[in-house]
Amino acid sequence: MVTTVAVGAASVLGFLAGLLTLKAKGAWCAVCGVTKECPDPAHRA
Ligand SMILES: [Zn+2]
Repeated sequence: MVTTVAVGAASVLGFLAGLLTLKAKGAWCAVCGVTKECPDPAHRA
């Protein structure tokens, strides 16, 4: 049980860290944050 919780927490933290890293790099739309290639040119800096 403890191991399962630890692995789950680690997975969530890793996922969030990766998401923040991608956003920091500007690889994803800063407005939507959903797609890498936002169809809306106004969202691109
Ligand atoms: Zn966008």
